[in-house]
Amino acid sequence: MNYFSTRNETKKYTAAQAIAMGLAPDGGLFVPETIPSVDESALRALCGMDYRARAVELMGLYLEEFSREELEGFVRRAYAENYDHPEIAPLHLLDDATGFLELWYGPTCAFKDMALQMLPYLLTASLKKTGEKRQVCILVATSGDTGKAALEGFKDVPGTRIFVFYPDGGVSAIQRLQMVTQAGENVGVCAVRGNFDDAQTGVKVIFGDSQFAARLTEKGWFLSSANSINWGRLLPQIVYYFSAYCDYVNSGKLNFGDRLNFCVPTGNFGNILAGWFAKQMGLPVGRFICASNANNVLTEFIQTGVYDKNRPFHNTISPSMDILVSSNLERLLYMLTDDKTTAAYMARLAKDGRYTVDAEVLSALQSTFSAGFCDDDETRGMIGRVFAETGYLMDTHTAVACKVLSDYRAQSGDQTPAVVVSTASPFKFAADVLAGLGADGGAEPLAALSEKSGMPIPAPLQNLEERPVRFDGVAEKSEMERLVDQFLS
Ligand SMILES: *Cc1c(COP(=O)(O)O)cnc(C)c1O
Repeated sequence: MNYFSTRNETKKYTAAQAIAMGLAPDGGLFVPETIPSVDESALRALCGMDYRARAVELMGLYLEEFSREELEGFVRRAYAENYDHPEIAPLHLLDDATGFLELWYGPTCAFKDMALQMLPYLLTASLKKTGEKRQVCILVATSGDTGKAALEGFKDVPGTRIFVFYPDGGVSAIQRLQMVTQAGENVGVCAVRGNFDDAQTGVKVIFGDSQFAARLTEKGWFLSSANSINWGRLLPQIVYYFSAYCDYVNSGKLNFGDRLNFCVPTGNFGNILAGWFAKQMGLPVGRFICASNANNVLTEFIQTGVYDKNRPFHNTISPSMDILVSSNLERLLYMLTDDKTTAAYMARLAKDGRYTVDAEVLSALQSTFSAGFCDDDETRGMIGRVFAETGYLMDTHTAVACKVLSDYRAQSGDQTPAVVVSTASPFKFAADVLAGLGADGGAEPLAALSEKSGMPIPAPLQNLEERPVRFDGVAEKSEMERLVDQFLS
């Protein structure tokens, strides 16, 4: 199967090229030429498999030039003892009609591990297949969770280096500690003055600087991305939508073939878009409910067709969703329109910070997606209420989705069984989760949350304060390129 850019359908790339390059040369995102389908018998077969086998089957559909043995090897290493749960991505049923898909048993306690434990294998194999002689430097802009997950995925992977930029003051204390104490000989981390969009724009500018790229080539390096703009990030995420569906059916609470809704806490639109691909492949999904925090640019877009990033930026207690430019939306726009229309929307976004899709696109969007948002008070309220009523503990991002699902059900009357995609361990955002429980964690929120909930602190988050800080730099946006240059010298 071939891939091409969302901004130019004429030039084709192999899967290995798309993964190795990350972003298309015209600034577009790679999309598959066709969407493979999973028919009823194939879906039944998936229901009889474990997570690893499901991943091999589904990823294989998009990666024709990778052998089955290769994929089995990747999956065996990506989803192994590094996961603190035998099912890898377990479905927790709260009641018959509501499940939580827990994606945070990996080494960084957030769902980004689902893709970033896999990406290094996909990427290094892709580089071999494309005959790339240069070494790859992964450049990441993170709103908190991607950075740590990418560092864990790529640390000490031969032939690679990784440099991560995060917004100074824009990530939680635990997220920051996880990154600045990162181990590994090939890693670098630096804070950037500004918010996530500043860091992400800074990284995009570096990627777009052809003179810099030429200089790096002379030194034997090239840049690639581990942000969710890389197809190799999106692909592993398609798997868990199928997996959740199968697990729901296997629980006996959903008839095979019946529809399931998914409510997804959304930032860059990568997670929810992977779900959309699963639906296009044939998974019986009713609707996707796109959940945002106070940075509700996607809520407005899905409800009105106007995408407008010219609005105040809010630092919230669900920081991994503090995003005003959702990169992966471009893939959906392309799927609903064509390359020229997508390129025109993106040009308008770059120039004016806003664009409006036409009525036809809006109705296509609304045929599958609903949207809602909630603020920090409502998020905390939801954490407290669900814990008091059921004993189930959620992190802040998951709580946003839970609240938005509850509003959606009340407003629409749609009682289709639904899965809330649970994107982080509650311990990763312990202080704010405790506030939701009406408690104060003081200086030791992890211990306090453990005591209050009766759940153990996940091993990767234990004793973070005692690890040596290796990266305490803070840079201006204008210094980012120079830092990368130094890092590769
Ligand atoms: C990254 C992240 C999100 C948002 O996911 P997108 O793919 O960017 O939409 C939500 N919750 C958590 C905990 C995250 O780390």
